[in-house]
Amino acid sequence: MAVPTPSFSHVSAASGRAPARRDIAESTYERLRGALSEPEWLLFEPLIRDIERLKAERRAIILAHNYQTPEIFHGVADLRGDSLALAREAAEGDADVIVMCGVRFMAETAKLLNPGRTVLLPDTQAGCSLAEAIQPQDVRELRRRHPGVPVVCYVNTSAAVKAECDACCTSANAVAVVEALGSERVILVPDEYLARYVAAQTRVEIISWHGHCEVHERFRAADVAEFRTLTGAYVLAHPECPREVQQAADYVGSTAGMISRLAARRPASALLLTECSMADNVAVLYPEIHFLRPCNLCPHMKRITLTNIRDCLERLEPRVEVAEEVAAGARRAVLRMMELTASPRVRSADPAASGPAGPPGV
Ligand code: SF4
Repeated sequence: MAVPTPSFSHVSAASGRAPARRDIAESTYERLRGALSEPEWLLFEPLIRDIERLKAERRAIILAHNYQTPEIFHGVADLRGDSLALAREAAEGDADVIVMCGVRFMAETAKLLNPGRTVLLPDTQAGCSLAEAIQPQDVRELRRRHPGVPVVCYVNTSAAVKAECDACCTSANAVAVVEALGSERVILVPDEYLARYVAAQTRVEIISWHGHCEVHERFRAADVAEFRTLTGAYVLAHPECPREVQQAADYVGSTAGMISRLAARRPASALLLTECSMADNVAVLYPEIHFLRPCNLCPHMKRITLTNIRDCLERLEPRVEVAEEVAAGARRAVLRMMELTASPRVRSADPAASGPAGPPGV
């Protein structure tokens, strides 16, 4: 549905401030044009302007995960993407302050890779059901039961869990990391469905854990079949979805992989089986694709708002710190992931992420 397009003069008069064109880069407004209604723009514009001012004053950079709302993702973020992209980007640049618009494990990863910088998480309650599904002692117990088997942890884990593991992975590079370790068996924690997705694509025997994402586990294969029958939509599923949902989809991959696949195929309509804001953000990039909106909200991601982003930049709080006794081990696991996936010998787990020729589904 088309949304009203506010003129800059209209916006400025309504907010009682100087013309927005002078304060906010026109490109920001242009990015948001397809994502926000006029009342939303009027509500968010003063906050966006405050955040832009504070970013400059604090020498700050804002990182936003694909599951953040459009006014954050397209409105104030400097770097956007999935967990892998944010992890890599966090290690570069020279900002004094990093604001992570995502959840705690993402902010911890940013801190691991930027120990000398201030890392802010606008709401400290932004957690993750997957990260909470496994504790350091669980990894130690798995090692005891499977001696000599390397342990790979999904990036959706606490720094304390990462410190117990040999390497980290994301949904985009999980197969590559597992295979690059050169072991016949690998323990992959904590997401059971990601582990089964990886196991279906490799000869490496995967030992899994029983963690689930509370957002993706709610999708059902029967719903996918019904939507496809009714709409003919192209269905893309995240590997955190149950296995039967993955099998019912046309494509399975990370959020970055989904975007690449959509760019390559340009279907008339698409159904993204992942967090709701993903479709909102991708729709801004591809307005010609009709996105169906059955989706699930992540309550943790939705704790981040323009208001608490502005507040944390003002106060330089709350800061994310990683205890020194776990930081070195956790950093080693994250850097090992980057080393393993930088090698030209390893193949991507996510065919669409590197080009349009990947097979549909898994
Ligand atoms: S969508 Fe799932 S995996 Fe991602 S942060 Fe939310 S609970 Fe965690």
